[in-house]
Amino acid sequence: MSDRVGFIGVGRMGAPMVRRLLAHGYEVCIRDVSEAAVAPFRGQPGVTICGSPREVAGQVPVVLLSLPLPKTLLDVVLGPDGVAAAGPGRCVIDTSTSGARASRAVGAELGAKGLQFLDAPVSGGVPGAEKGTLSVMVAGDPALYDRHKGLLSIIGKNVFYVGAEPGQGQAMKLVNNMLSATALAATSEVMAVATKAGIAPDVALDILNVSSGRNSATQDKFPKDVITGTFSYGFLVDLMLKDVKLFEELADEMRVPTLVSPAVINAWRVAVAQGYGPKDFTAIAEMFERWAGVEIRARRREG
Ligand code: NAD
Repeated sequence: MSDRVGFIGVGRMGAPMVRRLLAHGYEVCIRDVSEAAVAPFRGQPGVTICGSPREVAGQVPVVLLSLPLPKTLLDVVLGPDGVAAAGPGRCVIDTSTSGARASRAVGAELGAKGLQFLDAPVSGGVPGAEKGTLSVMVAGDPALYDRHKGLLSIIGKNVFYVGAEPGQGQAMKLVNNMLSATALAATSEVMAVATKAGIAPDVALDILNVSSGRNSATQDKFPKDVITGTFSYGFLVDLMLKDVKLFEELADEMRVPTLVSPAVINAWRVAVAQGYGPKDFTAIAEMFERWAGVEIRARRREG
């Protein structure tokens, strides 16, 4: 008999993670509030579709989560029909970016109710979730980590143990995303200026990528999604603003002053105010394009 796990939140990241678990022989009990998210799994061998987090947890020893917001995590785990309501003895693994505070609260509450918790946010985007090459940053009891490392290796190529306290995985993930958000916003700004100065955008990128300005946006997001005009990396502006605000909350909580992050957070705030919230996060480049009156698209000169 194959192993069974639960998975709650089968959106952009959750769905490919579930497909990998199925491909590795797991049976998966899934739950999502969106019918559109659940629909591709209907009738698939190995999949059970459940009506609540409690129903999922009632059928499996381990429940993975990929949810959009900290308050969704609290509701799904601790709400009246939540995972914890299924009773003690199960393990919850949160792969979402939920923030350190919510993660600590959920870890403590689950512990008090006799359930276990691993804080395990991921990085690498939808392509990484599809290929199983995500980075996973795990915090929680080390013995629990050892027990579930194999399961996490199915979704992530690089599984790191960050520390014993839930929330530390989140802290690491927020540090990463603050830097990633900085790279994307700053690259959008400078590429708009380069294009306005009459430099072909693809040539500018080639130069940056062998020079000191290279970063994750010049090497990955711009060539794939901005230069091509596809803007479909798979992560929303709204969620990026959530992450950078959670970073600021963490720094504030620890009384660490920040200078650069507030400017970057404001860039993402402005993007949301200008209607980009439900768009792909690479579309922040479009905002800078509009201000500059240019398009950052390939137009290398032939010959
Ligand atoms: P998404 O919105 O595509 O997926 C979230 C899913 O959760 C949706 O299908 C939604 O219907 C479902 N959901 C919402 N409320 C629910 C509830 N109460 N019960 C059950 N399901 C519920 O978002 P995503 O891009 O897949 O991101 C998920 C998490 O992973 C977020 O925390 C995000 O910050 C993080 N993350 C995303 C990426 C990325 O590139 N997309 C990368 C790393 C981490």
